[in-house]
Amino acid sequence: MATHSNGSSEFNIPKIRFTKLFINGEFVDAVSGKTFETKDPRTGEVTARVAQGDKEDVDLAVKAARQAFDYGPWPRFSGFERGRIMMKFADLIDENIEELAAVDCIDAGKLFSWGKAVDIPLGANTLRYYAGAADKIHGETLKMSGSFQAYTLLEPIGVVGHIVPWNFPTSMFFMKASPALAAGCTMVIKPAEQTPLSALFYAHLAKLAGIPDGVINVVNGFGATAGAAISSHMDIDKVSFTGSTEVGRKVMQAAAASNLKTVSLELGGKSPLLIFDDADVDKAADLALFGVVYNKGEICVSSSRVYVQEGIYDELVKKLVEKAKAWVVGDPFDPKVRQGPQVDKKQFDRILSYIEHGKREGATLLTGGKPCGEKGYYIEPTIFTDVKEDMLIAKDEIFGPVMSLMKFKTVDEAIKCANNTKYGLAAGIVTKNIDVANTVSRSIRAGIIWINCYFAFDKDCPYGGYKMSGFGRDLGLEALHKYLQTKSVVIPIYNSPWL
Ligand code: NAD
Repeated sequence: MATHSNGSSEFNIPKIRFTKLFINGEFVDAVSGKTFETKDPRTGEVTARVAQGDKEDVDLAVKAARQAFDYGPWPRFSGFERGRIMMKFADLIDENIEELAAVDCIDAGKLFSWGKAVDIPLGANTLRYYAGAADKIHGETLKMSGSFQAYTLLEPIGVVGHIVPWNFPTSMFFMKASPALAAGCTMVIKPAEQTPLSALFYAHLAKLAGIPDGVINVVNGFGATAGAAISSHMDIDKVSFTGSTEVGRKVMQAAAASNLKTVSLELGGKSPLLIFDDADVDKAADLALFGVVYNKGEICVSSSRVYVQEGIYDELVKKLVEKAKAWVVGDPFDPKVRQGPQVDKKQFDRILSYIEHGKREGATLLTGGKPCGEKGYYIEPTIFTDVKEDMLIAKDEIFGPVMSLMKFKTVDEAIKCANNTKYGLAAGIVTKNIDVANTVSRSIRAGIIWINCYFAFDKDCPYGGYKMSGFGRDLGLEALHKYLQTKSVVIPIYNSPWL
């Protein structure tokens, strides 16, 4: 079993400051007056009651965003001015980093140390990256046939609805909001109902930075009500969705049935990590374990299918089990801890039921498989071997610290196994052979391939899915173009000295 730590750091957990909806630059109650509970996954106790938005609140938020887009200054500022304000927003994030990391920690069970070192800085730097791009948005000049010439304008797409999941509340907020802000769009953001808190804090900082009222609106609430009101809204021009494949389908259907708004979908995954015989076994075992337990496995690109070439299989399995047993699960405020609690009871039960299913299907449980700690939603790093490709644990996205370990013989077989999924989000390759790395990386149908690394993300590297993992990319300059549309302006040219 994994090591469990009940210890916590000296850090004083701050009082939750923002729990209302943020519409048109103000914190307001829901029209219905309803609220819902958000719970601390370390204990299952209620952290705060949060205003519960519904269709009426989404309508008000869209009205504010529409007004800000059609008549407000944000889309009319120069790109440089938008960038300047976004930079200020990023600096305010830096100033509040501890409190923000603590909020995500008690809302999502994320590691406090990781939040301070990685998640929150990445959020601020994503803003800075797109702030730098805001004054570099330009079209092209085109020589048409005859005496016509055209130029293209890249214009903001309008009012955007962002619907996001709970596993990375901060990264999701900035992956979505930053390029949309740089493009000059206005927006309604619906955080996941499990993690409603940090988005409200960011809305507060956006206002302090000088982002005009109505540009960023945050409506917390449930998917079937607030989320559905966004995807079916007649006055939203684009929906950018991250979440499950099942809900992504509903979002697309609602968009098609309403005003044909454009949609981009970042969906689920069941990503393979392929470890070849020439790998350094110790490093490969570290990577494989990290790939499945990072963020407690609640990450869409988790390397939940690990394929190991037969020559090093036995040695690698031994190392993996040792490392999984030494992995420290516990209070995410404790600096020794590497893995916090699953986000909520529902996710905790879901993961445990997949583990039971794996045992029933005949896979061998090598290590883990049980909850740990006296309270909260902690699960041991879990490794199954003797997994068959058609078992549920090898096919379904579990979204927890559960690895399916399988063996392969040849490069061709590895490629076939990697592609044997309806998803296509990410893949990892561990080898010293550059030819194998090149062939395999080009043969796998997935949006991001990590060679001798895993989870290497940054603001400038586009990321998104092939196949049923969705379409459209977050991050990188490509994401900026999701929030822009092209207008061609054609003009006759008379008496030009050149053709
Ligand atoms: P989910 O699909 O249940 O919910 C995502 C968001 O959609 C939430 O805000 C939810 O309230 C909302 N929603 C639910 N029903 C809706 C409806 N009918 N209409 C509109 N909105 C609705 O996903 P989740 O459980 O929050 O997150 C886990 C999933 O997200 C996993 O499948 C994971 O792979 C995926 N994910 C993907 C990426 C990526 O970039 N590809 C990143 C993180 C998570």
